[in-house]
Amino acid sequence: MWSPVAQWLEHLLCKRDTWVQFQAGRNLGQVSYLHRFQSTLVIVEHNNEKLTPVTLNAITAAKQLGGEVTCLVAGTDCAKVAEEISKVQGVKKVLIAQNDIFKGFLPEELTPLVLATQQQFKFTHICAGASAFGKNLVPRVAAKLDVAAISDIIEIKAPDTFVRPIYAGNALCTVKSSDEVKVFSVRSTAFEAAPTNGETASSEQVSSPPGAGLSEWLGQSLSKSDRPELTSAKTVISGGRGLKSGDNFKLLYDLADKMNAAVGASRAAVDAGFVPNDMQVGQTGKIVAPDLYIAVGISGAIQHLAGMKDSKTIVAINKDPEAPIFQVADYGLVADLFKVRVSCKR
Ligand SMILES: Cc1cc2nc3c(=O)[nH]c(=O)nc-3n(C[C@H](O)[C@H](O)[C@H](O)COP(=O)(O)OP(=O)(O)OC[C@H]3O[C@@H](n4cnc5c(N)ncnc54)[C@H](O)[C@@H]3O)c2cc1C
Repeated sequence: MWSPVAQWLEHLLCKRDTWVQFQAGRNLGQVSYLHRFQSTLVIVEHNNEKLTPVTLNAITAAKQLGGEVTCLVAGTDCAKVAEEISKVQGVKKVLIAQNDIFKGFLPEELTPLVLATQQQFKFTHICAGASAFGKNLVPRVAAKLDVAAISDIIEIKAPDTFVRPIYAGNALCTVKSSDEVKVFSVRSTAFEAAPTNGETASSEQVSSPPGAGLSEWLGQSLSKSDRPELTSAKTVISGGRGLKSGDNFKLLYDLADKMNAAVGASRAAVDAGFVPNDMQVGQTGKIVAPDLYIAVGISGAIQHLAGMKDSKTIVAINKDPEAPIFQVADYGLVADLFKVRVSCKR
């Protein structure tokens, strides 16, 4: 049993936000106790209707830090999302800010809200998924707090120490931050999605700061597809310059429809105009880690590998036996993609 003095000491030291190791009392037999008061704010990505899956991966990362996880849902009409996030396992509290200024989720408008929230709650960590949304917002928040942004983390070694890929994933960098607040983005493929069947967290409305008015959201046009979304699909079939034309991507679309797969592409295929750039996988495209990745007519340049090498099983079809893609493939087929017959049995 803890003595009241030890409990008081623990409380005091934890409040000081310091790593502590102290002897709880000579007669207690418990020698040391490590604890730190952590509190993490996860900025929720959504479309006012639904949560974007990357937020669930960010919550898992936040939970690994220990301490309380609070989620900030900012939008124009986001009560449904707040309810959804409140049921995610490990979320303690949901902060909700609804205002027209959050139309389009512009970082110029969201940042003052995050700063005001930070001013009020004094989180030790602030994070978001490393998606376009997070990549847009996290550096701005960090700059305004005058701390370094730690981008695209794939591992948490300690509350102040993170691992992130550099040089297109060819090296891993361990970053130790001495900043008072750690602001980071989370690579979704490196953390499991947090389960969505937790106890309902408490929620609190927060007021929105006056609009910054630095930029205006005019509209967006989103590509529509019946296939699964590239970054969350369990199977991805990607085509490269070896496909020779956009029309030939039909080969992959037909296969994808049979396998309930998403279709991706190399940058060379995108640059050649075969497919739109939202299909690009890689360093400057999307990062995917499906159960099965099938690369068809893709050489396997490091910039492409940076976006898919964490896939659980990689299959490559390429006519060149020396193609670098075979170095990461679990199964390789050296063949002309237009001649080889790939069939799928369900
Ligand atoms: C800063 C930077 C960022 C980049 N970011 C990305 C990125 O995000 N994603 C990305 O993919 N690339 C990226 N690249 C480009 C990258 O370096 C490669 O140029 C690109 O990935 C090559 O695409 P590819 O494999 O489709 O084309 P190629 O290199 O031309 O390879 C085509 C492959 O198809 C095979 N092939 C041809 N015909 C057939 C056939 N009939 N049957 C079977 N196989 C066939 C060939 O043997 C070859 O291996 C980036 C480059 C830079 C400099």
